[in-house]
Amino acid sequence: MKKVLVLAEVRDGQLRNVSLEALAAAKTIAAGGEVVAGVFGAEAQALAAALGQHGASTVYTANHEALAAYTPDAYAQAVVQLIELANPDAVVMGHTSIGRDVAPRVAARLGFGLVSDVTALDEGPLFTRPIYAGKAFQQRKFVDGKTFVTIRPNNIKPGEADASKTATVVPVDLEIKALRTIVKEVVRKTSGKVDLSEAKVVIAGGRGVKSADGFKPLYELAEVLGAAVGASRGACDADYCDYSMQIGQTGKVVTPDLYIACGISGAIQHLAGMSSSKVIVAINKDPEAPIFQIADYGIVGDLFEVVPLLTAELKKVLV
Ligand SMILES: Cc1cc2nc3c(=O)[nH]c(=O)nc-3n(C[C@H](O)[C@H](O)[C@H](O)COP(=O)(O)OP(=O)(O)OC[C@H]3O[C@@H](n4cnc5c(N)ncnc54)[C@H](O)[C@@H]3O)c2cc1C
Repeated sequence: MKKVLVLAEVRDGQLRNVSLEALAAAKTIAAGGEVVAGVFGAEAQALAAALGQHGASTVYTANHEALAAYTPDAYAQAVVQLIELANPDAVVMGHTSIGRDVAPRVAARLGFGLVSDVTALDEGPLFTRPIYAGKAFQQRKFVDGKTFVTIRPNNIKPGEADASKTATVVPVDLEIKALRTIVKEVVRKTSGKVDLSEAKVVIAGGRGVKSADGFKPLYELAEVLGAAVGASRGACDADYCDYSMQIGQTGKVVTPDLYIACGISGAIQHLAGMSSSKVIVAINKDPEAPIFQIADYGIVGDLFEVVPLLTAELKKVLV
């Protein structure tokens, strides 16, 4: 029986989906023990109810001006204080850009183990995670001591909300000091309405889109499917789009239900960021393109003909 702390993440005043997935993972790790949650920010109090309905018995809430935007040193201090207060056996959070940064930092500071980028979880608990850029999977379990776990978004199914459940809310006073960095302004680079790392459908463009304008048909298809638009590094390097859209080993990792790769060759570094997608569709005019080796459906053709056709046909059934 373990006590497991979930660190919830908030974006635009809402809980990120991965935090509910983390609560489901925490339940498996706790194996009948206690699941508690921590959430930072001005909306923390308001979000505690949802965390309770998804299984947290206690929700620690904290608001501090230093946490208004993410900085490694402020967050690490806050997370350490929360862990010292809750005293859990394990801590779970999303393998998001914040999770990737803060988890190893705090694990090192507190002498915790770390299992990162978990894509599946079995009783035991036994953690599955990709290695070698997604070419193989490794299974790990806790041997001894306390551990930090980060889970890849969109892989572990969140539990259903139970409206009858409530959490005890514990406001926490944090002491955050001697900061070496402060955020003055946050400038969002992506214009997409859907968050790429949590999107259920992703349309990605590669060097085959040929220009920034070449992304237009992809955005039109995304509009019909409620999808996020991403890119290969080839497209980013060619200045067709912003690096915030890059998917792959050195970009974002996505696991949507549907991934449509348009004009992307399928380099190993790109596959590292999308090969766990549930259904992969590739549109490429080269029948020998490596992307077809991992695609569930392949369309050999010019994306500038195929994508508008797809959009028009899907509009007939979806809009
Ligand atoms: C250390 C390192 C890290 C890297 N990290 C990443 C990463 O995170 N993400 C990433 O993506 N890459 C990464 N790369 C780069 C990677 O190796 C590839 O160079 C890159 O993914 C290629 O992008 P691409 O598929 O868009 O371009 P290309 O390989 O040039 O492929 C373009 C494809 O478009 C097709 N095409 C052209 N015109 C059309 C058309 N009209 N219709 C349909 N198809 C068309 C072509 O047949 C071709 O297959 C990394 C490389 C290194 C060395």
